[in-house]
Amino acid sequence: MSLRPSILDPLFALASTLKGVGPRLAPLLDRLVAEGRPARVLDVLFHLPTGIVSRGTLGAVRDAPTGEPVTLAVTVSAHRPAAAGRRGPHRVLVEDETGDVTLVFFNLPQRRVEAMLPVGTRKLVSGTIELWDGHRQMVHPSRIVDEAAGAPGSEPVYGLTEGVTSRIVARVAASAVERVPDLPEWQDAAWLRANGLPPFAQALRAVHATVPEGETRDPATDPFRRRLAYDELLASQLALALVRNRQRRSGGRVNAGTGELVSRIAAALPFGLTGAQTRAVAEIREDLAAEIRMLRLLQGDVGSGKTLVALLAMASAVEAGRQAALVAPTEILARQHAERLTALAAPAGLRVAVITGRDRPAERRRSLAAIEAGEIDIVVGTHALMQESVAFRDLGLAVIDEQHRFGVHQRIALGRKGESVDLLVMTATPIPRTLALAAFGEMDVSVLDEKPPGRKPIVTRLVSADRLDEVTGAVARAMASGDLVYWVCPLVAESETLDVAAAEERATELRAVLGDAAVGLIHGQLGPADKDAAMARFAAGETKVLVSTTVIEVGVDVPRATVMVIEHAERFGLAQLHQLRGRIGRGERASTCLLVFKGPLGETAKARLETMRRTEDGFAIAEEDLRLRGEGEILGTRQAGQAAFRVVRLDLDGDLLAAARDDARLVVDRDPDLTGERGRALRTLLYLFERDAGVRLLRAG
Ligand code: ADP
Ligand code: MG
Repeated sequence: MSLRPSILDPLFALASTLKGVGPRLAPLLDRLVAEGRPARVLDVLFHLPTGIVSRGTLGAVRDAPTGEPVTLAVTVSAHRPAAAGRRGPHRVLVEDETGDVTLVFFNLPQRRVEAMLPVGTRKLVSGTIELWDGHRQMVHPSRIVDEAAGAPGSEPVYGLTEGVTSRIVARVAASAVERVPDLPEWQDAAWLRANGLPPFAQALRAVHATVPEGETRDPATDPFRRRLAYDELLASQLALALVRNRQRRSGGRVNAGTGELVSRIAAALPFGLTGAQTRAVAEIREDLAAEIRMLRLLQGDVGSGKTLVALLAMASAVEAGRQAALVAPTEILARQHAERLTALAAPAGLRVAVITGRDRPAERRRSLAAIEAGEIDIVVGTHALMQESVAFRDLGLAVIDEQHRFGVHQRIALGRKGESVDLLVMTATPIPRTLALAAFGEMDVSVLDEKPPGRKPIVTRLVSADRLDEVTGAVARAMASGDLVYWVCPLVAESETLDVAAAEERATELRAVLGDAAVGLIHGQLGPADKDAAMARFAAGETKVLVSTTVIEVGVDVPRATVMVIEHAERFGLAQLHQLRGRIGRGERASTCLLVFKGPLGETAKARLETMRRTEDGFAIAEEDLRLRGEGEILGTRQAGQAAFRVVRLDLDGDLLAAARDDARLVVDRDPDLTGERGRALRTLLYLFERDAGVRLLRAG
């Protein structure tokens, strides 16, 4: 049963009911705008144009007529210069989804043509296609511009699928726009005026319409697109604010005491807290001490000292007579955390136990009994800890480490392990502020933006794969001076088996050069005990080089490791490269990261590796990653659809996020059940952008 306001029905009707959408077009439209589901009118409406192009001439390459002027939106795929020393044309192959065509240039220096049409760039190319020797070619295009530049008097260009042209989409969109009902305004009128944003229906009409002669549309500033983006942002922030409100209202307890245990642990440390740590601890304690449920994200780059902050938070809960749990993503990490925490917490007399899937039965039974009896203060474990029947005497705080891949609803489920459990989620993936708001808007955020003093910077170098010998040489030198080396092998294919094979092969090759005993191997297909053993041998310096697939990505700490080799670095995401590099630079000695790439690199790959070389700042890297790749990839939530937006582009609209967040929280403070006039209009907005899970919470709560 849906409580969707019936006023929205025309927009949720199937797109096949639109004028001009017949049985041939309908399935194509499903694929194009609805990821294969039956497309609805609103899917068509929210499939915004990707650009605009000179009117009257735009077409797909395959359908473009010969002998008359056309404009094509194409990607430059290859250059074929005249053979050395020969006279002849310089040819450039360009293509769109439907086909390709050759651009031909006579008497132009190769360098100029290459500068005009860099491989991989998107261009609008105008000219006349001719058939020459059976090939379609365009000799000396009359106009070449960046796709983004568009042209005055232009029509929208859409992302396309096989068999559909922009013209067709524009026509369908035009009839979809006619279905838009008169909806109540859900935005604050004053805010709209102040930001020059038009009403919703007008914005939808305008984004799909031909742009009048003399006007241009820059997606970054286009008020029509921005209005729709703001609507979507507000819908998502409102849904999160409703979750947050419900969570906080559900009766928190006071989970902080006198501060005595916290002080005792801090006093016993061989170092002082960083400013950022002090700040984060204070923010967390304030939440714990209040009668609301904490829902907080602790963000900090690798090595920024999150574990210590977590410990002090847990000590606060223990002061209040409660227990605390720390959940780690892997077995190895759970054990490492337990070991560290036990040592750090000893001065305060805190009792720590570890629960993983691999404890010996007797030991496990003893631990479980002690936890239930309240003889354990801090329980460290893997995710199993939250799912299994681990009974606490009185759990006050749960800390989840490195789990930014959780969705909102999983985070809520985690809180159910005790009575109004306070929740602290720690992530080592620096998330750009905009993205953190988008994905974690219902959480409060503490940021560790400062590293403990005394870290040596990591030197990062880019090395072409054909100089692998030099890399091996550098590794041998590092070994000779007693340093340890991580060697991460390429992601060969989708198949893990193939990745493992590649790692095995590399290990064999390195053993031939560096000696059998010096090279260890770890990968995802080893059993947990073998993995631990391989890791332990490396940490102890028995093996000097640890060849691995990406299983070492998370958290493990080996201070003597000072060299990180990453093969096929161009295939990794920036966030992943940053995580991997964070494994080194943890000790006294200078560290080096060698990013081995296989050329030639495309523009984006080059930019990514260059970013890695230039900076170690996780937040800067994350911002760049967001710009280059888009949000879903970074959060790993594309499938979960959590932060996936239809209209919003976080690279362009990030500036609107904070406003949407503040507005959403204000609305929920004033009208928590969305029953006022604006509240009711906002319910419509939630349904429109399908964030109505928030509305269901209203009913349930
Ligand atoms: P993260 O979990 O954020 O990657 P850790 O908590 O593992 O970072 O801390 C990394 C290292 O820094 C650990 O060895 C820890 O003991 C140390 N450390 C933490 N806080 C400080 C501090 N304020 N001063 C010096 N060293 C610190
Ligand atoms: Mg950590």
